[in-house]
Amino acid sequence: MILDPERARSELEPYSRMAGGMVKDALDEAELGGGKEKTEKVVMVRCGSCRKLNEEDSKFCQECGKPI
Ligand SMILES: [Zn+2]
Repeated sequence: MILDPERARSELEPYSRMAGGMVKDALDEAELGGGKEKTEKVVMVRCGSCRKLNEEDSKFCQECGKPI
């Protein structure tokens, strides 16, 4: 196993900091297949009731339907 994700991530850390974290975000998406929430690209608002992340322009929570 040459490419260990944990190891690669730590080695890339200093560089991704210089690049403002954008490189690391791109790598995360590539490696993980975009399975996680894209909190860095889109501004999200967190529901105060269920803590679900909704898009910035959402007026109501997608999860529980309460006003944000
Ligand atoms: Zn909610």
